[in-house]
Amino acid sequence: MNDLLPEVIDAWQCLEAVLRQVTAAYGYREIRTPVLERTALFQRSIGTDTDIVSKEMYTFLDLNGESLTLRPEATASCVRAGLEHGLFHNQQQRFWYVGPMFRHEKPQKGRYRQFHQFGIEAFGWPGPDIDAEIIAVGERLWRTLGLGPVVLEINSLGSGESRRRFRDDLVAYLTAHESALDADSRGRLQTNPLRVLDSKHPETQSVVAAAPSLIDYLDSDCRRHFDGFCARLDDLKVNYRINPRLVRGLDYYSRTVFEWVTDRLGAQNAICAGGRYDGLVETLGGKSVPAAGFAVGVERVLELLALSKPLAPGIVPDLFIAAFGEGANQTAFVLAERLRTAGMTVISQCGGGGAKRQLRQADRSGARYALVLGDDELARGEIAVKPLRSDAPQFLVSLSKIEHELELLLRSEPAQPAMAAHERG
Ligand code: ATP
Ligand code: MG
Repeated sequence: MNDLLPEVIDAWQCLEAVLRQVTAAYGYREIRTPVLERTALFQRSIGTDTDIVSKEMYTFLDLNGESLTLRPEATASCVRAGLEHGLFHNQQQRFWYVGPMFRHEKPQKGRYRQFHQFGIEAFGWPGPDIDAEIIAVGERLWRTLGLGPVVLEINSLGSGESRRRFRDDLVAYLTAHESALDADSRGRLQTNPLRVLDSKHPETQSVVAAAPSLIDYLDSDCRRHFDGFCARLDDLKVNYRINPRLVRGLDYYSRTVFEWVTDRLGAQNAICAGGRYDGLVETLGGKSVPAAGFAVGVERVLELLALSKPLAPGIVPDLFIAAFGEGANQTAFVLAERLRTAGMTVISQCGGGGAKRQLRQADRSGARYALVLGDDELARGEIAVKPLRSDAPQFLVSLSKIEHELELLLRSEPAQPAMAAHERG
């Protein structure tokens, strides 16, 4: 679990601003649900045979003896909230969310125990247009962020009868090659055979390469849906690769599944995953509602962004106010408020100290100008303005006209990103 320190927060906020902008362009509205849910919600939705539910959840009994779980993902929560508040009654809904998720995984680069997902969910559209729309949202997000190349992989899991037929044939095929499978996959053969397709194990992969393909089993409705989805992507000129081995780690998907992957993050190569989950609302106790969505790994996207461009600069304070002497201190404190009211960012020195020390603090603050006020200047009704990012000489400004003078000064040259204090030494 990571502390997000002030020096990385600006990058997070920039990303969040883009999320708001892009989701708004499509009419998705934000939803915020609790980080804790009843354990049964995830058991019923994600499925007890999945990695998440079988070994990754933070689950505990609360003081009433009720089993609660820190959410490992948010789709189930969105469905629960929608059902609880009657949001699916003859209505279509477009939701988005961002927030922390919790999975007890082996921590490594790009894999954390508290991580963040941004996601969108669309409820009430059975046709492939919405599948293509959520792809368009992802694509626009990458483009707006300037993320660099990512590859979209798609597949269809079919549904109902065709999936059962595929599952039977797959189990028969894998059983015939059982001795070549890794131990994990042999276990999955019994509990969740589709997940064997997902194995990263080299020997298992070579068995899987010749396994039956899901896509050959699609019934005509699922085939038509998949073709419609691909056609829409073609209309939008979105590049994609059909990956017949792509399955998802959660049980609730049907028909469309997809992942955006990159080869620039090592083993943790998926930045976004999603698909259609037409059965989930009913599974959780509602009427059947078609649905589709995705979840983005925020840490992985930020890591990828950091590879292609420097992280967003921190806030650059306009001013640092240094003051020497009792009266000057008192005036400076009030002056700082006046300047903030005028729209400037001002770091107050708060507490005196010698001239050398205060000017060193001014420099470290990253501010563009220091305002220096001593009792002498105060007696003359003036304050010294010292440029901190150039060798220009300091000059005096009348205290009565200070807002106006500083506004002109700050507007005359755009703020340069401040270097972090440790880089300046
Ligand atoms: P993976 O195969 O990497 O374990 P997953 O299939 O478990 O991913 P999803 O449940 O589909 O992942 O979550 C969607 C996205 O959330 C992933 O594509 C990834 O970017 C991100 N993600 C998942 N688990 C973690 C984690 N432990 N730490 C950081 N990001 C994660
Ligand atoms: Mg996982």
